[in-house]
Amino acid sequence: NLSKRLKRVFDYIPEGTKLADIGSDHAYLPCYAVLNKRCTSAIVGEITEGPYNSARSTIRQSGLEGIVEARMGDGLEVLVPNEVDVITIAGMGGSLISSILEKGKEKLQGVETLVLQPNIGAHHIRNWLDYEGYSLVEEDILEEDGKIYEILVASKSNPNSAYSEKKEMELFIGPYLLKNKNDAFKKKWEHEKNNFERILTQLESAKQTEESVQKMKEVDQKLEWIKEVLS
Ligand code: SAM
Repeated sequence: NLSKRLKRVFDYIPEGTKLADIGSDHAYLPCYAVLNKRCTSAIVGEITEGPYNSARSTIRQSGLEGIVEARMGDGLEVLVPNEVDVITIAGMGGSLISSILEKGKEKLQGVETLVLQPNIGAHHIRNWLDYEGYSLVEEDILEEDGKIYEILVASKSNPNSAYSEKKEMELFIGPYLLKNKNDAFKKKWEHEKNNFERILTQLESAKQTEESVQKMKEVDQKLEWIKEVLS
């Protein structure tokens, strides 16, 4: 059975698709997606040998050899263009997820949907998607075992923009998450508010340089946004 987090990622995978799960580790998500007939086939990408072997053993134990295929390699390099419809990348930091997408850009041809689950730094992904012309179509945030996870769903062909005139703030916090402030959302931003307040205090008490003044401005702006969404 999948964790609540991976089950939620699964929920955003469109019906009848070919999936690639990059940085899959044990391959629980792609095997579940194929066993539950959400996906017709799946490719599992792993850069590390241990997780790659554990993916292979899950595939074998699930009787999915030939339908789910494990490939060892860095990010999207395991894919051929137009091979899959959906890519999932879960359980990593947002900056790593966006660097995997950036490095493998040419493999994204034909990929309609990205379901991305950053543990931290979701704004890196929103910025990358926006710059690359992917529309953010859904977002989710949930808590499991005291940790908070975000899910971003992007579509290549959807022409609608998720952003308003408050785009900078929405890129930072999440345009859809902002409209539906659940408990996980509030908990996350209370925590971030404390973080940024601590950083600001540190910057204020240290010797001021051009750099630290700039940094203070940025932190100040973020704190303002956070206070606004929590009020
Ligand atoms: N996706 C699974 C999940 O959400 O439960 C596993 C997450 S695990 C924390 C991250 C996995 O990504 C590790 O198994 C690691 O080896 C793999 N990984 C990290 N960087 C990678 C890259 N550039 N390409 C492929 N896999 C990568």
